[in-house]
Amino acid sequence: MEKILCGVDIGGTKLSVALMTTSGKIIDKCIDCDHAEKTECGLTDQVKANIIKLLHRNNFKESDLLGIGIGCTGHIRFKDGIIITISNLKGYKCYPLRDAIQSSFKIPVILDNDANAQALGEFKFGAGKGFNDMIFLTISTGIGAGIIINKRLHRGMTGTAGEFGHTIIEPDSDLICTCGNKGCLMAVACGMALPHLFQKKMKEGKVSKLRLPSDFDYTRIDGKLLKQGLDIDDPVSKEIILDSGRYVGIGIYNIFQALNPSLIVLGGGLLSWGDFYLGQIRKTFYELARDMMYDPIEIKVSDIGPDAGVIGAASLPIELC
Ligand SMILES: [Zn+2]
Repeated sequence: MEKILCGVDIGGTKLSVALMTTSGKIIDKCIDCDHAEKTECGLTDQVKANIIKLLHRNNFKESDLLGIGIGCTGHIRFKDGIIITISNLKGYKCYPLRDAIQSSFKIPVILDNDANAQALGEFKFGAGKGFNDMIFLTISTGIGAGIIINKRLHRGMTGTAGEFGHTIIEPDSDLICTCGNKGCLMAVACGMALPHLFQKKMKEGKVSKLRLPSDFDYTRIDGKLLKQGLDIDDPVSKEIILDSGRYVGIGIYNIFQALNPSLIVLGGGLLSWGDFYLGQIRKTFYELARDMMYDPIEIKVSDIGPDAGVIGAASLPIELC
């Protein structure tokens, strides 16, 4: 019988575990949303229990698996399988998650950053199929990324390569990133910046068609609300979306100059802003790259769907295939 894969996607809000064929088709999956309340050991037990539950439910044995791939939010030391730190889950200081899971299984267990895993999934089964090099950027509350060079993930010395969200784009900005620096790309361009950007427009005297009440809690401004604004032609929402697109376009231009990839794939919640957003990203990039771009670079949107995280994680055991 053909072997299958198991993927585990550990995010800030949900824990997904899935069985998948080697051609990228999900066989079965389970999703929990209570993992963030658990200790490191509690989460480890939850992951193990979900893997065993899925195997039993689908009449598979451990020996039917090629391996278990885990994509986890946060900074991951790939070669040791250690979570260095996760800003949106408590605890997790240098926790050896890979070995903790491995202790219950004989097949290989691989732990990597979730953006790396998503990049690999996109490369094998999504918009990256057929390419040699690819940069994947996920744009939501923050910005994560994965680098594929010569069909392999490029992880760097520690395993934290591709943290483009922390490249500094506005050093004099008053927007402080989760890393503590000012003006990181993700601090000025994505979900975490939206409350500040909206308030700034209000202070400048701009009028929003969203008609938020005077006591509105601006920390609730997010991509979904600005999408509503875009849909009703709200000038404030549109300005912020264009500003974000411009910053992301500059970020992609910097990536182009550093790595010269043939493909950039964009995913994440803010892509729900659609062609209005994507158009600004592309326009900014092509204006900056001009005739320095000799061979064309494609900027595409992820087409792997809502299971991208767990599909990417399940791809980790076949990265070198
Ligand atoms: Zn940063």
